[in-house]
Amino acid sequence: MARYNDSVCRLCRREGEKLYLKGARCYSEKCAVERRQYAPGQHGQARTKLSDYGQQLREKQKVKRLYGVLERPFENTFTKASRMKGVTGENLLALLERRLDTAVHRLGFARSRPEARQLIRHGHFKVNGIKVNVPSYVLRAGDRIEVTEALRKNPLVVEGLERASRGGSLPWLELHKEEFAGIVTGVPSREELPTPVRDVREQLIVELYSK
Ligand code: SF4
Repeated sequence: MARYNDSVCRLCRREGEKLYLKGARCYSEKCAVERRQYAPGQHGQARTKLSDYGQQLREKQKVKRLYGVLERPFENTFTKASRMKGVTGENLLALLERRLDTAVHRLGFARSRPEARQLIRHGHFKVNGIKVNVPSYVLRAGDRIEVTEALRKNPLVVEGLERASRGGSLPWLELHKEEFAGIVTGVPSREELPTPVRDVREQLIVELYSK
């Protein structure tokens, strides 16, 4: 299976903003975007004015990178979103937000989305009592995500849960800290999305795929 193996900080620098892909480091002064505020590579510091197509492309790349999704699965998700009722761009973000790896990260069971993905692949999570090892699994309202016994003693999970419970949960995710579980209470609306997803201009992605 294809996967991105280069530095994830390069992705943030390419998009010119923090995508929060590395856990605690993203909130520290070691963050690469804080230290080098220009794109990576030989021509990274050159001034460029983006065309309309360039802006659409950058927005799509940003969302792909935010959710750690490669081109083909992203296209498939877009097709699915366009077939659903409602606004395609909002459907797309809601589908990405309801991925199991995103929910695991948002609930505090993992420090970053890549870490969540790894834990899921190693079979550390159950959905409605059944082990699920597919990070792209799309959750539905009412689904219960649970950490397996083996991972409950992991200090990173315990620490993450403490942090998540202090930070307050998202409107569509209910954290049950004592039970090492979370419940999906609904579908996230556009207004409820957290930053940096809230600032995404999803209309540009729809325009790109409509060509
Ligand atoms: Fe790296 Fe996180 Fe900063 Fe992005 S936000 S550059 S992933 S440290």
